[in-house]
Amino acid sequence: MNTRSLSFRLVTWYAGLLTIVFVLLGALTIVFLRHYLEANLLDIQARRARQIADTLLVTASRTGDAVVAQEVEDLYSPEANDRFIRITRGDGHIVYASGKPKDDSFAPSRVPPPPLTRKGDLLRKESLASGSLLIAARTYTGASDLRYIVEVGVSTARTEATLRQVLLMLAIGLPIAVCVAVSGGFILVRRALKPVDRLSYKAEEITQHNLSERLPVMRTGDELERLSLSLNLMISRLEDAIQSSKQFVADASHELRTPLAVLRGELESLAQDAQLKSQTRETLGSLLEEVDRLAEIVEGLLALSRLDTGEAKSEWVKFDLGELAATTADQMSLLAEDKNITVACELSPGVAIEGDRARLKQVVVNLLDNAIKYTPNGGRVRLKITREDGYAILDVTDDGIGIPPEAVPHVFKRFYRVDGSRSREQGGAGLGLSIVKAICAAHGAHVEVVSVPGKGSSFRIKQPLASGTSTHAHV
Ligand code: ADP
Repeated sequence: MNTRSLSFRLVTWYAGLLTIVFVLLGALTIVFLRHYLEANLLDIQARRARQIADTLLVTASRTGDAVVAQEVEDLYSPEANDRFIRITRGDGHIVYASGKPKDDSFAPSRVPPPPLTRKGDLLRKESLASGSLLIAARTYTGASDLRYIVEVGVSTARTEATLRQVLLMLAIGLPIAVCVAVSGGFILVRRALKPVDRLSYKAEEITQHNLSERLPVMRTGDELERLSLSLNLMISRLEDAIQSSKQFVADASHELRTPLAVLRGELESLAQDAQLKSQTRETLGSLLEEVDRLAEIVEGLLALSRLDTGEAKSEWVKFDLGELAATTADQMSLLAEDKNITVACELSPGVAIEGDRARLKQVVVNLLDNAIKYTPNGGRVRLKITREDGYAILDVTDDGIGIPPEAVPHVFKRFYRVDGSRSREQGGAGLGLSIVKAICAAHGAHVEVVSVPGKGSSFRIKQPLASGTSTHAHV
């Protein structure tokens, strides 16, 4: 589980807050419940004390203390009812005191005497060693100013037991409630954030090659809808920017073609002048070479930008790759002979693919050109066409200088040259392999390279074999 994910953090906060709220709520419940139960009990004791005073003590002066004590015993049976009753005269003499309760919840003898001087009612809680006692005391003043203090009390043991039960219920119930709420919260957060996942997956899939695609828009009217709409607007702006920069390169290289052709023509006609000094002739020669290089770069750029913008429509046909490779190798044999390089062809017959013949020829030309360029005199280049699991395979292998491992991932990038000076000598601008890659991409083909410095390189193109004979327009 990713602990830094938004859903994890949200749920953790939620769980923490929920636990704090539940614990506070539980504590408040216990405090209020205790207060309510004790107030209730005291109220009952006070009523009882009043009852004793009003009914039994009224006649005390006539009947005597012993009769009062007997009547309390008969009417209220305090021991059997786990109650505390004590009647004390104003002079401190105890008229009646109940005995040990049946449940043994308190020791009556340890209850401190009531404040004798105080008049009126008094509610108090006495903490005894055996437990607490809630006592309501009522002062009764009878005939000839004889004062009695009637105390009725009850142990808090039952209240405490009830509170303990509530506490136990809370202790079991709260974690369960937190768990249920957190699981529910987790599911809700996951559901709420799922569209964000979908958005990011889709956004990751969008590259400069499929900028026309858009992110799914959730019509929920919330922040996610706004986010997806804003991202889509951003992708649209990116698409426009990339498209116009591609168009700019396409237009610029197209516009450069004509002046370059004129420049070349003028330089050639100048070079034909027989009266030229040899130094001027040499300068003209190197100028022509540079113009050729420039023209090559412009052609490369134009080819790439046309592939990028999808400007040039081409006819897709089914053709034999072996045959295309053989004619191309044949046409380039002069180049190889110049360096005394042998080009060996191993061509399986009937390897048919579908695509733009001219562009795929460009692929073979660029690969063979590089192989010859980067192989020393007298070396060997091998061109091999085979089929493998429904794919046509084209291998161009040489035993030339090879490519250093750190440069291999970059060789298909535009204007990348392994070693500027080395390639400049050979006349390369670093566009050949990027054109190969762009053409392969347009054909659903895959290109890869394996190279060992000093031993040679092997470029492999893997393209699906043609399914049936077909001719259709394609970009
Ligand atoms: P360039 O026009 O400079 O050859 P490419 O795009 O065709 O540009 O190739 C890029 C770089 O990859 C070249 O500069 C070259 O150093 C290296 N390279 C390409 N093919 C080979 C090869 N067959 N052997 C060695 N190096 C190669």
